Amino acid sequence: TTAIRGSVRDTAIGRKRTTEKADRATVEQAIDPRTRMVLFKMLNSGTFHDINGCISTGKEANVYHATKSDGQEMAIKIYKTSILVFKKMVRTWAEKEMRNLKRLREDGIRCPAIVSLKLHVLVMEFIGKSGWAAPRLKDAALSLDKLREGYIEMIIAMRMMYQKSKLVHGDLSEYNILYFEGHLYIIDVSQSVELDHPHALDFLREDCVHVSDFFKKNGVAVMTIRELFDFIVD
Ligand code: ATP
Ligand code: MN
Repeated sequence: TTAIRGSVRDTAIGRKRTTEKADRATVEQAIDPRTRMVLFKMLNSGTFHDINGCISTGKEANVYHATKSDGQEMAIKIYKTSILVFKKMVRTWAEKEMRNLKRLREDGIRCPAIVSLKLHVLVMEFIGKSGWAAPRLKDAALSLDKLREGYIEMIIAMRMMYQKSKLVHGDLSEYNILYFEGHLYIIDVSQSVELDHPHALDFLREDCVHVSDFFKKNGVAVMTIRELFDFIVD
């Protein structure tokens, strides 16, 4: 059977749906032998049954949509390891992302659950449904009411992340927040830092600025950066 197949079609409002049986060769070419070995091991051990297509291609990682034979959907984040000497480092990023996501989940913060990690390949819960990845907050086109709700939900999540998980995201913005079934999900936490990191509070301030700017730009009456920062740390 076809194990790795598919491509992605961009659709309105930034959503992407995987299509079956598109250009298989294109997908396989993009995957290096080591990564393919990891994926085949995961296929053999039943972690998933099919890789259907690419959700996102970025500078540091590609994200694919996969399904189990029972239909359960997963996201596979493959960190790029093009330069040989960085292979170990990239693995560290993947491990860090897994650790941080687990911590957030344990503390009740909405984010993808971890399924499995092998080398630089991280398998996690798919945020979305029936092959449709949840849009990033940036692309979600929410009503003002939903944005207001989202703002409250996000600042509470930021406070919980700080107070309970003892982490600062470090790259939080409308690009790393997904909107799914009325809720906001935090993703992309490989660069998140512990509170004792020398720049933790600078990163937190930047996160506050990015989150505030997004909601403000979209018409929500937001707190000042100072108020938000204090709400999170106090
Ligand atoms: P790069 O910076 O190289 O683009 P990245 O490090 O930003 O990659 P992520 O932000 O984790 O990678 O993921 C990239 C995109 O993949 C996200 O914006 C989101 O659209 C999608 N994505 C990531 N994880 C999931 C998931 N669990 N479920 C659904 N979609 C996801
Ligand atoms: Mn990202």
